[in-house]
Formats: sequence, structure tokens, C-alpha cells
Amino acid sequence: MALIVQKYGGTSVANTARIKNVAERVAKWKKEGHQMVVVLSAMSGETNRLIALAKEIQAHPNPRELDMMVSTGEQVTVALLAMALQELGLKAKSYTGTQVKFLTDNAYTKARILSIDDKVMRADLDDDMVVIVAGFQGVDAEGNITTLGRGGSDTTGVALAAALKADECQIYTDVDGVYTTDPRIVPEARRLNTITFEEMLEMASLGSKVLQIRSVEFAGKYKVKLRVLSSLEELGKEGPGTLITFEEENTMEQPIISGIAFNRDEAKLTVLGVPDRPGIAYQILGAIADANIDVDMIIQNVGSDGTTDFSFTVNRGDYNKAQAILEGVKATIGARSISADNKICKVSAVGVGMRSHPGVASKMFRTLAEEGINIKMISTSEIKVSVVVDEKYLELAVRALHKAFDLDQGVA
Ligand code: ADP
Ligand code: ASP
Ligand code: MG
Repeated sequence: MALIVQKYGGTSVANTARIKNVAERVAKWKKEGHQMVVVLSAMSGETNRLIALAKEIQAHPNPRELDMMVSTGEQVTVALLAMALQELGLKAKSYTGTQVKFLTDNAYTKARILSIDDKVMRADLDDDMVVIVAGFQGVDAEGNITTLGRGGSDTTGVALAAALKADECQIYTDVDGVYTTDPRIVPEARRLNTITFEEMLEMASLGSKVLQIRSVEFAGKYKVKLRVLSSLEELGKEGPGTLITFEEENTMEQPIISGIAFNRDEAKLTVLGVPDRPGIAYQILGAIADANIDVDMIIQNVGSDGTTDFSFTVNRGDYNKAQAILEGVKATIGARSISADNKICKVSAVGVGMRSHPGVASKMFRTLAEEGINIKMISTSEIKVSVVVDEKYLELAVRALHKAFDLDQGVA
């Protein structure tokens, strides 16, 4: 008998038929003798619908009230699943984040988990109950409802698995595992049997939304056995999904690149004609950081005639705010002008095999050059190379790189 945490995403609970389907799957595992904790998202589209409602009232919704409201989507699905399981003759009980005491800080819309009280869940599990927990939400020390950021139910699932020392955390979604790239963009993409934790962390942080990055961080920190699977496959005929591994395989020939990730959610800002003197980077990025805006890539050119250009990228949602801040900074530091572009994207090649194989970056640049795609920014780390290109080239770039690195061939 094992303790299994299963998380089902929005498409897996999109309507009552799908919820009944989830109930069948959970029941199968329960009947095999496992203790089951299930985390659900809201029905697909529901969180977006709720956020849009808030924006009809406030252009920038009050974060506390926004969390109060968007957390309701998950409350609906967990109760429906409890009913569906009861209809199948199982004991099941649903809980909100507040009820299980999923304690977070008070950073509304992106709260961080502080602790999880497992008492109630343990008692239920001992009582043969299926425990169902609303994903994405928590509660702060004052009892305010918080949420964990978009896609946060993945993190709820992994955090619960860590707190309960579960034997496995299974993330059920609408694809049957982690692919070499998003199969919606490249139909030839292949499912990976395994992916290393480091690679998954990079893929998630570089835009592969199949797992929320924080869920991967949690899995790494607490060594949670994490698997991505499809909830849409016929019961009894499920594939193995993708297992996130913590050890690199040395026995088999390691592919150099494991996957291509991309992110449309980027914008680039450049301060032109900046006086080339100490403290300039701090004056520009300090002002951006003070406004709580995350900066991704940064480039400062070599100076000539005493001035230089300074570029960086931010989330597209922060684009207008960052631009306004730079207009203020421009005057203070005596820069010439600001140029801004929110029609860019970032495309990245990820693979631990890069460590032992030089030449990945040059192959990437050659491939893009052959497609006539201009590179605007480059950044590298030990296991990834990222480029910023015009958004209109995103699909072309991803397909070309997927092919150039032979990802559409061979055994995953
Ligand atoms: P859920 O609602 O179940 O949380 P998401 O939409 O958040 O599902 O994540 C699943 C989606 O992630 C897939 O439908 C797929 O389009 C996308 N995706 C992006 N990159 C990858 C990848 N490398 N492998 C698999 N899916 C990916
Ligand atoms: N419902 C939330 C969202 O759409 C959380 C999740 O689905 O993981 O972001
Ligand atoms: Mg998701």
C-alpha cells in the first residue's frame, strides 16, 4: 500500500463528465489499496473568467479580493469530485486550503507556502477516506485566503506530497507526459520517459507550462517522486508518463539536448546613450526592482564616446510599468532615449548533455541564421542556451531547432 497524491488540471475537470472520469481513476487506485490524496484545479477557463470579472470592476483588482474570488473555482471542483466518489461507493471529503491549513505568507496572487498541517488529512486517510484538496490556494496567518500564482495547483500537489511524505506525486494533465517541446507547436515532439530534475527546472522556468516552476523546485527540495501523466487515456491502458529523475543516467548515451522551451510572455526595454560610469546598472535596475518587477536577461554593451546602451527583458505584464519607470530614470541619469519592444519571445535549448558537448550555441545560431531569424539577445548557462527573437518567428524557430537537434527522432 502506498500513499499517492494525484493532481488533476483544468482540462481534466472541465465538466461533470470529466470529473466522473477523474473519480473512476481515483477509485481504481483506491481499490488497489492505496491511500489517496487528490488536488484539483478549477474547471479550465474558470480562473480566467473570474479574473476578467474582477477587471470589469477594477482595472487593477485589489489583490486580497482577487484571491478571495479566484480561489472559488477550485472549491467547486473539489466538492463535485467528493460527490462523484461517493456515488461510486467510496468515502471522500473535500477541503479548501484554509480547512487543511495550507499556511502561506500574505503575498496575495503569488503567496509562498510556510507550512501544511497534515493532522486532518492523516485522520481521514486512516479512516479510509479519499482526501480532496483545493489546489492553488492557501491561507495566511490572519486567515486571509491567498493564491500561489497561475498554474499553482501543481505546487499544491507537490507540497502536499512532500508534507505527507507520499510515495509518489502524479500530475495528471491533457498530454501524456513531458515532451521534447510543446506538442501543440511541434506535432513531431516526443514524450520523454524521464527528464532530470535540473532539466525540468530549466524547461519550466523558460516557459514550458506543463509544470509550474515552483512545483519542480519543491520536488527537488523534498525529493518528491514526481510523474506527469494524462487523465484522458482509457483506464487500464495508461502509459507510463514522464518521471522526473534526480540522477543523471550515465549508462545510456545522453542526448545533448532534451528539449526546446519557449516563452511569449516577454518584453524588451533598452536605455540608449547611458553615461558609461559606475552605478548606472544599479540606478536603472534598482528602480525596476523597487517596483517589484522581475528582470530576466540583461545586456550592457561596451561603451564608446562615454556612453553605452543597456537592455533587459521583463514579463510582458510589467511592460508598461517598466517603460514608465525608465522614462523617469532617463532624466535622472541623463540617458538619450528609451526603446521598447513587447513583440518578442524567448526560445531556449535545454540539456544536461551540453556540459560535455561544446558547440550547442553555435549550432543554434546557425540554425536560426539559415531560417533568416535575427537574434536580439543571447543568454547561456551550464545546461541551456536562450535567445530572444521577434515573436512572429517563434514557431519557425522552435520547429527548426527541434529538428536541428534531432529531437523528432530516436528513443526518448
Ligand atoms: P493543466 O490544466 O493540466 O495544469 P496546463 O495547460 O497547465 O495543464 O499544462 C499542459 C500543457 O502544457 C499541454 O497541453 C502542452 O500544450 C503544454 N506544454 C508546454 N510545453 C510542454 C512540454 N515540453 N511537454 C508537454 N506539454 C507541454
Ligand atoms: N486554476 C489556477 C489557474 O488557472 C491554478 C491551476 O490551474 O493550477 O492558474
Ligand atoms: Mg497547469
